[in-house]
Amino acid sequence: MRAIVLGGAGFIGSHLVDRLLQRGDEVVCVDNYLTGKRAHGERRLQRYTFVEHDITRPIPVVGPADAVFNLASPASPIDYARLPLETLEAGSAGTRNALDLARMAGATLLHASTSEVYGDPLEHPQREEYFGNVNPIGPRACYDESKRYAEALITSYARVHGTRFRIARIFNTYGPRMRVDDGRVVPAFVSQALKGEDFTVFGDGSQTRSFCYVDDLVSGLLALFQRGDSRPVNLGNPVEMTLVQFADAVRKAVGKGGSVRSVRPLPENDPRQRRPDITRAKTLLGWEPKVPLGEGLQPTVEYFRAELGYR
Ligand code: NAD
Ligand code: UDP
Repeated sequence: MRAIVLGGAGFIGSHLVDRLLQRGDEVVCVDNYLTGKRAHGERRLQRYTFVEHDITRPIPVVGPADAVFNLASPASPIDYARLPLETLEAGSAGTRNALDLARMAGATLLHASTSEVYGDPLEHPQREEYFGNVNPIGPRACYDESKRYAEALITSYARVHGTRFRIARIFNTYGPRMRVDDGRVVPAFVSQALKGEDFTVFGDGSQTRSFCYVDDLVSGLLALFQRGDSRPVNLGNPVEMTLVQFADAVRKAVGKGGSVRSVRPLPENDPRQRRPDITRAKTLLGWEPKVPLGEGLQPTVEYFRAELGYR
């Protein structure tokens, strides 16, 4: 198929592009490198085109396409804290432009939404039916509300224009090509372990997350594209752990690492628990993650080892 990947020079986007190219698809990648990397956008292959462009302006890709994958948005808490207006614009104007592009191209839009639409959840684990607990004026609002708005925009646009769409609510995903300095807990803990430093935990480390390896996530996105319907689908790994347990897993994968050290209180509105209910993904898509944390951390650690110049 011909696929247009918005945000294809980012962490998840570049893995998605890899997979599409591996299976023989034609790919047009659109990215403005706001939080992505040139090395991930630049590829020499006939079936691949790169367009450097900000999707908050109309997207200059012409011709029919089968898929528009919209992953273009800052995604890590320190990125969207630094870029709150760009984040809101990516979710609003950017999503509107992605919809117009999909409509003109006759494509299905697959939108990367997030577990953050559930905010600091009062229901656990999170099912797609849960409406969430989001502070609309808090420090995470620029991200959470732009993703919630994007879901409202997509479903409204489809009601008006009949555009086909999929909504993936992605939970914490990790793997090679995350930026070492993106502030998320996986690059932070892995690089701290490699340097032999203590793990900088926010709060007491009892908050939970559920970590999904990027290859599993990409398989989920493709399954959703092929077999999904108009309902949002949680994509993530349901194995939940505290951050203290996660630090232990990282120490084991790296073979060294310091102690867990609480360096600051839990940031405002930081979700205290998060685990996807993936019943819908299993029954509708026949998808579930296959890569255990210990296995997925190996290539991740190797990637950061090289990025930090330890090899
Ligand atoms: P990332 O920052 O690595 O990738 C985002 C990409 O989008 C970058 O290459 C960036 O340059 C590009 N981009 C941002 N704004 C743009 C704009 N206006 N125009 C063009 N390009 C733009 O982040 P990621 O972790 O790969 O996340 C990808 C998507 O998945 C995001 O939409 C994110 O919200 C969603 N998501 C990710 C996770 C996760 O755990 N990584 C979890 C939930 C949702
Ligand atoms: N966190 C931490 N130390 C760090 C970075 C993050 O304790 O150096 C915590 C953060 O407060 C949150 C969890 O780890 O509770 C996951 O944070 P991340 O930024 O990876 O993703 P989030 O799930 O918050 O979007």
